[in-house]
Amino acid sequence: MYQPDIENMKLPEIRKLQSERFVKMVKYAYDNVPMYKKKFDEAGITPDDIQGLEDAHKVPFTVKDDLRQHYPYGIRAVPLEKIVRMHASSGTTGKPTVVTYTEQDMDTWTTLMARCYSSAGVVKGDIVQNCYGYGLFTGGLGFHYGAEKLGATVIPISTGNTKKQLMMLKDMQSTVIACTPSYALYLAEAAEKEGYNAKEDFNIKVGMFGAEPWSEEARKRIEDSLGIKAYDCFGMSELYGPGVAVECKEQNGLHIWSDEFLVETIDTDTGEVLPEGEKGELVFTMLTREAMPLLRYRTKDLAVINYEQCACGRSHPRIMRIKGRSDDMLIIGGVNVFPSQVEHVLMNIKGVGDQYLIIIDRDILDSMHVQVEVTPELFNSPDYDPAGFAKKLEGELQAVLTVRARIELMDPGTLPRSEGKAKRVHDKRKA
Ligand SMILES: [Zn+2]
Repeated sequence: MYQPDIENMKLPEIRKLQSERFVKMVKYAYDNVPMYKKKFDEAGITPDDIQGLEDAHKVPFTVKDDLRQHYPYGIRAVPLEKIVRMHASSGTTGKPTVVTYTEQDMDTWTTLMARCYSSAGVVKGDIVQNCYGYGLFTGGLGFHYGAEKLGATVIPISTGNTKKQLMMLKDMQSTVIACTPSYALYLAEAAEKEGYNAKEDFNIKVGMFGAEPWSEEARKRIEDSLGIKAYDCFGMSELYGPGVAVECKEQNGLHIWSDEFLVETIDTDTGEVLPEGEKGELVFTMLTREAMPLLRYRTKDLAVINYEQCACGRSHPRIMRIKGRSDDMLIIGGVNVFPSQVEHVLMNIKGVGDQYLIIIDRDILDSMHVQVEVTPELFNSPDYDPAGFAKKLEGELQAVLTVRARIELMDPGTLPRSEGKAKRVHDKRKA
């Protein structure tokens, strides 16, 4: 294991460390970031009111808009000359959100990434083919430096050029692949088309997947087609990048590295902290970040946190699989639906391909329009009955999600493939 002294800390020890760091961080943010001083003043509190985790609920939230408003150089607690790196996430509207790092922050982030790899069984000597995008997006460099820190060999191939990716997988005998789950599905499909036998020609053991929500069914498809173990890795650029939480060998939730992150679950509407084990919006506090303190940052991700001891030996609380972001939630005929739930239903059905697209084409949604690719096997089968198959899928969606759906079957290979984050919802009203 990479850092047993930290990874094996018991929950009471973790809480004690979090409490000390939280109190210190609150004071640091208040003293060094004018935005936080203002937030505290407006809430009528000072850092003296925060004596431990039990006072966390008093601290005002930070939201994405706070970051946008501090464009270009971000919410900063240090002078610019102490910043050694900046990343930015593309906003759907207007200016990007900028995040900054000091040398110490870079070291922390890299260490967390190394722990993530190690948790998935990656060791020195492994060959990591890193197909995350290098650049302003945190995925590429995050996965890059974490692997190097662990002593693994990195192939910094970045996104795209699928034929070259396949050639490198074969020639370099890469043992680890890091990319989005949707790109892994596409790679498996492309490998077959290019005449590779993924299980024989490639030597991949482990996949480090993240940056988008994916279902258990997608995991199974990736594992079966590439002959690998697929691990879920969670992060977001506001919280360094990838490396916030990762699955262990048990694959029953993602351990949040709780020496660095305090997580709370809140009611999205009221902002009230929910009791442990209830589903709600995840709120993160970064406990040691130097350049850009974030106190109680609202992520809009909805999930349940599990505080039970994990069979792997770690006590760091686990995020049970994230269903989706509150932003991505669709309301169809009064029912809340996440794209990942649609994926869950569809991919369980034999004959359904790896690609689907939910189309939003009107303001009042009483039913869901979904384009679904069928597998080449089904498509080429003499028994293929498109109308009957579409009805079957509609019936399943109705039965499991209680939503009415209109399925449009697509020929294999006709929906757009993504090299980065998959686009699962196409909102025509925004086009
Ligand atoms: Zn575990």
